[in-house]
Amino acid sequence: MVAIKGLEKFAPKDFPGFIASTVFLAGCNYRCPFCHNPDLVLRPDSLADVPMDLFLAYLDARRGWLEGICVTGGEPLLSEELEGFLSVLKAKDLLVKLDTNGSRPDRLRAVLGAGLADRVALDVKAPPERYREAAGSKTADPEAVAESAAILKASGLPYLLRTTAVPGLIDVPDIEAIGRWMLGTPVFQIQQFSPTNCLSEEYRAFRPYSRETVQRLAAAAEPYFGEVRIEGI
Ligand code: SF4
Repeated sequence: MVAIKGLEKFAPKDFPGFIASTVFLAGCNYRCPFCHNPDLVLRPDSLADVPMDLFLAYLDARRGWLEGICVTGGEPLLSEELEGFLSVLKAKDLLVKLDTNGSRPDRLRAVLGAGLADRVALDVKAPPERYREAAGSKTADPEAVAESAAILKASGLPYLLRTTAVPGLIDVPDIEAIGRWMLGTPVFQIQQFSPTNCLSEEYRAFRPYSRETVQRLAAAAEPYFGEVRIEGI
């Protein structure tokens, strides 16, 4: 079974519209410099597991009240045991929202094909030409992310793409390039950057964009997407 490294009991922002909790799974194949969960990514063994029996008891105690679980990371699709875990959640009549970096379209296809996710949020870190810089990985493959987006588009499930507005990494031309790349996606979300606890020490010194600048980025995205949302300002 997967190792749960964190549980946020009340997580309305992670699963909008539902009474939901979030579980954090360990490990990631990216090293985004702006990542705000560096321990999950770099030092997962330094974090204590949430015992599975306690987590299941937590779910049972909230049966009929809790509506969904957001499964995030790290990168949940790296775990070969994910399907077993999601099956347990579905057997408890819970909705599942999956957060993914889109690097494993094969695993995404398998999870969706098994009917184990009801919503998906897919990170789009940057336009293709800046993907490796944004993901902090020389092997990050933007084509895999595009394939994940295509799988979601064909799935019929509600989903959104999301990009963090990182100063120095994402500006209007980058948003426009993402828009052209992911043209026709129903929902795109721009997230405010937070320097707190960033994976890269350099990025901890960055000042987030002003509200006006984030709104300008959102306006730049509007021609390309059905709906543009802003998170975090
Ligand atoms: S922000 Fe990047 S490094 Fe952090 S968990 Fe997400 S994909 Fe992995």
